[in-house]
Amino acid sequence: MTEETAHRRVIRARAALPATCVAHQQALIRSRVLALAPALAVLTLAWIGLDALVLPQAALLLAAAGRVVIAAGLFALATLGRRLPSQVVLRLFVWLQALGFGLMQALLAKHHPSSAAAISYGLAPFVIAAQIALFPVSWPQALRLGAAPVAALVIGLVATHMPARAAAWSDALLLALLLGMAAWICEAQLRLLVGLSAARDDASHDALTGLANRRAALERLAVERGRIARGHGAATVLMLDLDRFKQVNDRYGHAAGDRVLQAVAEAIEAELRGCDLGARFGGEEFLLILAESSLEDAMRAAERIRRRVAALAIDVGTATLSVTISIGVARLRADAAIEDDLARADAALYRAKTDGRDRCVAAPADADAA
Ligand code: GH3
Ligand code: MG
Ligand code: MG
Repeated sequence: MTEETAHRRVIRARAALPATCVAHQQALIRSRVLALAPALAVLTLAWIGLDALVLPQAALLLAAAGRVVIAAGLFALATLGRRLPSQVVLRLFVWLQALGFGLMQALLAKHHPSSAAAISYGLAPFVIAAQIALFPVSWPQALRLGAAPVAALVIGLVATHMPARAAAWSDALLLALLLGMAAWICEAQLRLLVGLSAARDDASHDALTGLANRRAALERLAVERGRIARGHGAATVLMLDLDRFKQVNDRYGHAAGDRVLQAVAEAIEAELRGCDLGARFGGEEFLLILAESSLEDAMRAAERIRRRVAALAIDVGTATLSVTISIGVARLRADAAIEDDLARADAALYRAKTDGRDRCVAAPADADAA
């Protein structure tokens, strides 16, 4: 992939993140909040010890009560966060801290004015801004989250009557700087995630047809076989090969052959269910893995695919072509190596070829058992 295409991918990703990337992003956001929230809750409670050193008794009670409420909120978020959308979890996380610490500072300033300066609640907006940088979100999203620390700062400044002082302006400037940096880091993380997800996609898909590649198919076979070995369901494999495809290349050229492969892949994809996997296994050979399907189901599906491909009229520029395919079908077995089942599907495919092509044949042992 060139740098330019990678860049274009990122630009497109800004408008709409690919589904796999969104899932990855949400999982990351959730796991980070769920890891941070309890740690911050413990830290918030432990800080009562430091408050005790600098606050008078009455102010300490208020501060401790506030800290217990915030810590309880963070613990609740760590518990309920698994059931809420990740973006909601993230917003709750920053707003809970911002409003909690902002209001605590305001209450302390109101009831115990002398204590307000002695404690470090004024740091909360900056700590929250730094936390925002830990999440892979777009920069506008990061800036929107930044409204929380801004609110905490405003509450704190108003409560301590600081807006007119120079220190207030330097606080505001520092927070703006931190939020700008956080937004930049968030966006950089998101771009990295998009690049990673595209690279993952490239590593598991065939560039010409967009189907899964051999590696992804073998991984999926291992998963399906594992399920069968544990007694869950049944799966079948279809080994599919274009008939006399060399002639297409020889007569119409390699580009026309490529177009045919794409059209066949589209036809295959159209017949598969979401739980199945279609892969380009070799040059003009495809492997289909049908989940939860008996040999009879698989033979019916194979026949549908065979007919759909035979009905194609493929425009290759200089001509409109039709092609046929042969298919070998085999059951995945719990007590056999995957390679053996693939070899049986291959043998059935070979039978289909020698019997005259444009047909589906079941592996002999499976056909007897069915
Ligand atoms: P059979 O019916 O016995 O399968 O005959 P066939 O001509 O399809 O079989 P053979 O294995 O002899 O030929 C396969 C051809 O597929 C040869 C190769 O040039 C072509 N092929 C493999 N990969 C690609 C590809 O990516 N693009 C194109 N255009 N052709 C490919
Ligand atoms: Mg062939
Ligand atoms: Mg072949």
